[in-house]
Amino acid sequence: MIDNSTFSTHKALFHTFGCKLNFAETSTVARVLAEHGIMRCQRGDVPDIVVINTCSVTELADKKCRQTIRSYARRYPNAAIVVTGCYAQLKSDEVANLPSVAIVAGNDRKGELANYIKQWLETHQPATIVTPHKDIRTFTPSCSRGDRTRYFLKVQDGCDYFCSYCTIPMARGRSRSGSIDQLVNQAAQAAAEGGKEIVITGVNIGDFGKGRNDDFFDLIRALDQVDGIERYRISSIEPNLLTDEMIEWVAQSRSFMPHFHIPLQSGSDTILELMRRHYRTDLFRHKVEAIRHTMPHAFIGVDLIVGARGENQELYNESRNFVESLDISRLHVFPYSERPGTRALNIDHIVDQHDKHLRSRQMINLSERKLDDFASRFVGSIRPVLIEHREKSGAMSGFTDNYLRVEIKADSSLANKVVPVRLTEWAGEVMKGELSL
Ligand code: SF4
Repeated sequence: MIDNSTFSTHKALFHTFGCKLNFAETSTVARVLAEHGIMRCQRGDVPDIVVINTCSVTELADKKCRQTIRSYARRYPNAAIVVTGCYAQLKSDEVANLPSVAIVAGNDRKGELANYIKQWLETHQPATIVTPHKDIRTFTPSCSRGDRTRYFLKVQDGCDYFCSYCTIPMARGRSRSGSIDQLVNQAAQAAAEGGKEIVITGVNIGDFGKGRNDDFFDLIRALDQVDGIERYRISSIEPNLLTDEMIEWVAQSRSFMPHFHIPLQSGSDTILELMRRHYRTDLFRHKVEAIRHTMPHAFIGVDLIVGARGENQELYNESRNFVESLDISRLHVFPYSERPGTRALNIDHIVDQHDKHLRSRQMINLSERKLDDFASRFVGSIRPVLIEHREKSGAMSGFTDNYLRVEIKADSSLANKVVPVRLTEWAGEVMKGELSL
């Protein structure tokens, strides 16, 4: 039981790095702190506590976290800095030595942050490292509001895949998930609060239910029944876990959007093997074709790593040719980053920075061409758009079912409604449109 009097005059500022899961969890931490009297800072407030939820996906992500911690320490010298997330989990000593850091708590301790903050406020001890659990098994539920219309529902955490380049299994532990009943209740709660769209998040969501007798397909069929939620998006799913049955079901479901995000990581089978991925390019092509066959209008986003160890020029060309040949909508390109403790460090052939940069540029250009090609197919058509918010320009924006960002003339009565919009012009990144009632 927490004594709220300790907290009653304190204000907290939150800063999140990384994935949707981290954003969902920051919202949950903020909500728990607010329940205990530590309110979120409003514009102009000076925080007593700065909570930084970190990411450690690349060396650059670590560096950004360090810079941000130092910058808050300079800006708010009297504030206590609380650091959580993957960087805190993996490099707790390094984080504890940064200025003004009061508490370092790994991913598995996010649910207990309010208690640690209370203890710190009472004692003002030097930096406290809350030791991460050796074997993270607990699942902390989290459903957070991203903005007025969209919620992020965490359904799963951790990963058992141990891809050779990835530290996430070390930072987030083994795969575990919430129960279907619990998640359906959270979705119903989001609907009761006025939420219209839920993004299903996790580290390896296709692994949902592992070790039990239900699975991800059971979950999405149950969520589809929740009254009030008009749209679901599946944030990212491993290609080997996206079954053909699921693709066919999404195509005729009530509320699952024709929108897929599938990590490919390389279009070379040799590199996929070095990465210890669980599929090869023929399976990936099959999944893309199965989606296109059942949902020709579906948005297909694909993650790709360039410059991984072992990717010589020939294998890079193979990868690029494969990606070029796929009918996908967009690439998310990540230059490979060396991570301590990963098996990838044993692979020969390191791609130099210059080549890595060049390959990133080429793949980003390819992505832009793919997006232009995909979006242009819909100019002149009418698609349902969930209107979200007013832009600075005075327009309002939202996303089509197939994940194209659309701007229309502002009309505040349309906020948080799904309306038909005629798409009139693709302006690169955003589609211009007009209401078509
Ligand atoms: S599937 Fe691979 S890349 Fe994704 S989190 Fe698990 S280990 Fe990392």
